[in-house]
Amino acid sequence: MTAGTHLVFSLSSLALIEACAGASPPLVALPLVALGSLAPDIDNQGAIVRLGRWTAPFIGNTAATAVEAPFLRASSLIRSALGHRGLLHSPLFCVLLYVLGSAFLGACGGWLAWGYATHLAADACTVSGVPAFAPFGWQRHSLLPIRTGGRGELVFAAAAVTASVATLLAARCA
Ligand SMILES: [Zn+2]
Repeated sequence: MTAGTHLVFSLSSLALIEACAGASPPLVALPLVALGSLAPDIDNQGAIVRLGRWTAPFIGNTAATAVEAPFLRASSLIRSALGHRGLLHSPLFCVLLYVLGSAFLGACGGWLAWGYATHLAADACTVSGVPAFAPFGWQRHSLLPIRTGGRGELVFAAAAVTASVATLLAARCA
C-alpha cells in the first residue's frame, strides 16, 4: 500500500479503539499512530522518495531533500540487510516493538505499535502480502488480491473511512 493509504487506514482504525474503549484516543495518539503506520516502509527507498515529494509542497524542495537524505541512507542499509517486506513487516517484530515501546515510552510506544500493526494489516491485503511467520518462515501471506497503487487500493481506503465513520456513528448513537 502507498503512504497515503497507510495514513488513512491507521487513522480510521482509531474509530475502532474509540468504539471499544468508549472514549476518544488522546490527541497525541494521532501523530504517533501516523508515524507508526509509515515506519515499516523504511525498508523501501521508493516509499521514502514518494514521502519526500509529498512534503516538498509544504516545506520546500531543499528542506524535503535534506529531510529525505538520511532516511534514504538508512533505508538503503536496512533494505540490503533485511529486504523489503522482510523482518520489518512481520507481526513478531510488531509485538517486539510494542513490548519495547511500552516499556520505554509508555502509552506512546503503544500508539506507535498500533500504527505499525495497521501497516502490516493493510500490506497483508495486497497481492505481495507479508511474511506472517517471520523469522520462522519467510513465505509471504496475502489476504486480498489488492495491487499497490491500483483501484483496489482506493476502494480499500474508501472502505476504511466508511467503516470508521459508521463505527463512530454507531458508538455515539448507542
Ligand atoms: Zn509496507
